[in-house]
Amino acid sequence: MTENHGETGALGFETLAIHAGQQPDAATGAVVPPIYATSTYKQDGVGGTRGGYEYSRTANPTRAALEECLAALEWGNRALAFASGMAAEDCLLRTLCQPGDHVLIPDDAYGGTYRLFDKVLKPWGLSCTPVPQADTAVVRDFLKERKTAVVWAETPTNPLLNITDLAALADAAHDNGAKLVVDNTFASPYLQQPLSLGADAVVHSTTKYLGGHSDVVGGAVVVRDAGLADEIAFYQNATGAVAGPFDAWLTLRGAKTLAVRMDRHCANAAAVAGMLTGHPAVGQVYYPGLPGHPGHKVAASQMRSFGGMVSFRLRAGEDRAVDVCGRTRLFTLGESLGGVESLIEHPARMTHASATGSPLEVPADLIRLSVGIEDPADLIEDLRQALS
Ligand SMILES: *Cc1c(COP(=O)(O)O)cnc(C)c1O
Repeated sequence: MTENHGETGALGFETLAIHAGQQPDAATGAVVPPIYATSTYKQDGVGGTRGGYEYSRTANPTRAALEECLAALEWGNRALAFASGMAAEDCLLRTLCQPGDHVLIPDDAYGGTYRLFDKVLKPWGLSCTPVPQADTAVVRDFLKERKTAVVWAETPTNPLLNITDLAALADAAHDNGAKLVVDNTFASPYLQQPLSLGADAVVHSTTKYLGGHSDVVGGAVVVRDAGLADEIAFYQNATGAVAGPFDAWLTLRGAKTLAVRMDRHCANAAAVAGMLTGHPAVGQVYYPGLPGHPGHKVAASQMRSFGGMVSFRLRAGEDRAVDVCGRTRLFTLGESLGGVESLIEHPARMTHASATGSPLEVPADLIRLSVGIEDPADLIEDLRQALS
């Protein structure tokens, strides 16, 4: 990945993460953008706003700093920051779709995304079909059969780490009059920039790698098209699920170190996946960095590296998988991912419990790891003792 963000010229990713949207404060010289804990702004005469700020649901300088940084990191033109990843998804879908529209989603989408479609947007009038997106030919056939407003993609997927060829998917969507949205939470913009591969919009749960320290919940949408950005901003302001200034500040603080954290997440995850692959208690290991992974080649071509998430199945079945989740000492048993500390979880009973009985049900003997940035030897030893 060597493309640079058009508007900031030759600046590299690590530089943008630290400087985009983060010029020293004009009034005081503060190097870090302040937390503007204010709901409203003094006007110099009616309509005389300073920099357009009038009310913090519409815009807030701390949130604006985060939004500018996220836009630069995704090589987009505009980002909008939300109270959570789900709020970002909901706002984007209401912007892109009308009641009556149809959406294609991955057949192993994030559980919360499936629930949003199934329980919230379906009654609102949207229909959605889960399809295996790793095979873009299947998606193409489907799009020919049924008029579709949006193709919703995740790659790598959660929790099975399937890989989709984003450039091919963008072509398939656009050839059939659909927009492509990519949930880039698992890869983060450091590993993959879907807008430069043809996506129309990127969504993030910034709760995960972008925030990176398990201390804030947030979401974002990033786009290139100015008209689409204005429409999303209208819905964001009209429905109101914005990121608060302190949350925006924490997320921006986390984003500064995204590149160095991701390098370590990737190296540690590769080491863990390698150990699991040879372990007698372990069945299939899902990690796109393994040469035997069906999406390995595509991942290598569209990602800088293979990410920090690893899933695997236990030969002895579900009860043993649940048991192992309770036996680790460094890997903390918990939902979420993307923080500096390693986490372990049982998707079927935890993050993906809401998909039970649906086409998105996950294997009961599956364990998902969010590999943190601790000493990899300690992580491997911890898993070995839990599996023994
Ligand atoms: C966590 C997550 C979400 C939802 O984000 P929240 O910040 O929890 O609302 C969406 N997509 C993926 C891939 C996620 O991991």
